[in-house]
Amino acid sequence: MTDPAPTPMATEDRDAAGTALAAEAARYADLGWMRGTSGNLSVTLGRHPLRLAVTASGLDKGELTPRDVVIVDEYGHATPDQPEPVPRPSAEAGLHARIARVAGAGAVVHIHVLAAVLAAERWPAGVALRDLEMLKGFGRQAHDDLVTVPVVPNSQDMRVLGDAFEDRFDPATPALLVARHGLYVWGTDLVQARHRAECLEWLLRFVLAADLDLGDQPDPLTRRARR
Ligand SMILES: [Zn+2]
Repeated sequence: MTDPAPTPMATEDRDAAGTALAAEAARYADLGWMRGTSGNLSVTLGRHPLRLAVTASGLDKGELTPRDVVIVDEYGHATPDQPEPVPRPSAEAGLHARIARVAGAGAVVHIHVLAAVLAAERWPAGVALRDLEMLKGFGRQAHDDLVTVPVVPNSQDMRVLGDAFEDRFDPATPALLVARHGLYVWGTDLVQARHRAECLEWLLRFVLAADLDLGDQPDPLTRRARR
């Protein structure tokens, strides 16, 4: 028995998503946030069943074409009902799908941005942010709103990472730091996710540069003596 022919909807969806994801990935690459072939982006195409378009694995994210995208299911596996050739999905597609399902994200950004890795190293229990105007761009309040961005240990097993993400998931905080690895940020669409990623990267650089002791103190404005 042959596989069913690709549906027009799957073809159109993948082409449109591929165009948007390629353009978006080029912006991140320009920022230096997708070095080598690292990082990946996804958009949610459907929820029943869950379907995401994810950037393909192993490609320079500054040079993606609209065809360098693959539709995956809730486990991050390529679905059979899409036009050939089907690129290999990112190994991290499974976590994108988990975030899309649990957080209801319409788009997920994953980047190996240095500030995120440094902040996770410094505050492995979570990075606290408060009283910063830029938090508004992250979907939170500029004042009196303590935001703790969760940190989880790195793993090559997306189920392990997904479980750790879900354990620490707070619906009000659209981001996850993976220690020694990078950052996941999500939003209702690619533009909102990008704005949040840009603002969060700024916030992480700020707390690192300001040398704020956020680890043991509930008040993130408590300064630690400089070494
Ligand atoms: Zn990664």
